[in-house]
Amino acid sequence: MSGVALDPKTSPVFPMAAKAALGDTQMRKNVRHATDVIQSKRARVVGEMPDWQQLREAGRQIRQHTMEHLDFYLEQFEENCTRAGGVVHWARDAEEAKRIVTALVKASGSDEVIKIKSMTTEEIHLNDALAAAGIHAYETDLAELIIQLGEDQPSHIVVPALHKNRQQIREIFQRKMNLPELGETPQDLADAARMFLREKFLRVKTGVSGANFLIAETGGVCIVESEGNGRMCLTLPETLITIVGIDKVLPRFQDLEVVLQLLPRSATGERMNPYNSIWTGVKEGDGPRAFHVVLMDNARTEILADKEGRQTLNCIRCGACQNACPVYRQTGGQAYGSVYAGPIGAILTPQLQEMHYAQSLPFASSLCGACYEVCPVKINIPEVLIHLRNKVVKQNTAGIAGLFDVEAGAMKAMAMIFKSERRFRAAQRLGRIAETPLVRKDGRGVGWIGWLPGMLGGWTQVRDLQEMPEETFRDWWEKRRTNGN
Ligand code: SF4
Repeated sequence: MSGVALDPKTSPVFPMAAKAALGDTQMRKNVRHATDVIQSKRARVVGEMPDWQQLREAGRQIRQHTMEHLDFYLEQFEENCTRAGGVVHWARDAEEAKRIVTALVKASGSDEVIKIKSMTTEEIHLNDALAAAGIHAYETDLAELIIQLGEDQPSHIVVPALHKNRQQIREIFQRKMNLPELGETPQDLADAARMFLREKFLRVKTGVSGANFLIAETGGVCIVESEGNGRMCLTLPETLITIVGIDKVLPRFQDLEVVLQLLPRSATGERMNPYNSIWTGVKEGDGPRAFHVVLMDNARTEILADKEGRQTLNCIRCGACQNACPVYRQTGGQAYGSVYAGPIGAILTPQLQEMHYAQSLPFASSLCGACYEVCPVKINIPEVLIHLRNKVVKQNTAGIAGLFDVEAGAMKAMAMIFKSERRFRAAQRLGRIAETPLVRKDGRGVGWIGWLPGMLGGWTQVRDLQEMPEETFRDWWEKRRTNGN
């Protein structure tokens, strides 16, 4: 990927990035259109399933059980994968994972790789690391190819180029594939991509993939996709390197029955993905001769250790929460400053960064609960968002820094006021005096405040505040009681 990398360490905070994104009307139109289409397809195929809620519950239970016994299932996967001829590598963090993959590609004797769409490789910016080592990575998923050729960044975990419309894609293909006469139908664009990629499939000897699921019971690896490009990468190269987060494991082969009903319906509104590939180790005369799996932690064990936050790891990366989120639908994905955008990004990214970066993301939500309703494995995203907001506040107000934090000081003062009726009444009286110079009367004599100074200004940024009433509810209530009404 050659665009400016989406990296929470260097990206602007969400409110700033979102403000800039809101000015891009074409992008917002594209995102709204694409998410509307996916959402209506999803609603149709989910509506066909009378047992959808039971399926969701089954999915939740499988994922929760797996996380509770993750160490056991990972070791079982390693044992079975190794027995089938695969080689398992363990990577503590992104740097180690990149080192391992780079060394494996070099050992394969190739200086180029064909890649299957993989959020894990995006998460660690693998392409940049490969490029630094003189290895060229070719994305073969159509959306990833658009992003790569357009020197752009992904904006959705399932449909990374969702923010681009057909005309914009055509322009990229014309320019980068040197096809000035290219037509503009979907078929024209698909044909151009097919021709461009075919030569890579036949020439490049090393493939890099992610994985949707690892199956502990068999040592198998599963990828679901819509185009078949992934299957070409899984079968044609001599060496296949799969890099995957340790959270992707499933205990049994039979668990696929549940997740393969939940995932395609939630992700793309399809009953089943056109291509479902499961491969286990190596086999003489069939597929790659060498197969490596890199199991990457990269802060996942820290997430697992957090009782409230750990349900984040249950995610099967369907993107349904993104399509349903009113915030994502306005800002698009790149405003999140991370390859994981939308509600799942708002809870996953800060935790992957151990809360040191992306602290604004847990606040990038209206807490409307739409993400929870559509999540096929019932991750309570609003609950995790609130938990993370709490963590952010604690982290920022710990120690000496807390003494100088204006917001934290204001909250402490509010707590003191709310604890005492006397102080509360005094604050109300003071508030009425303090607001006087700011109040403007409308035609009906109702007082409004259109501007508040300093930190309070946020309240009046997009709405007016009504003047405080002359008589408080308490005063009214007491008067009513005294009058015997
Ligand atoms: S949090 Fe749920 S809805 Fe969102 S991507 Fe993950 S599984 Fe899908």
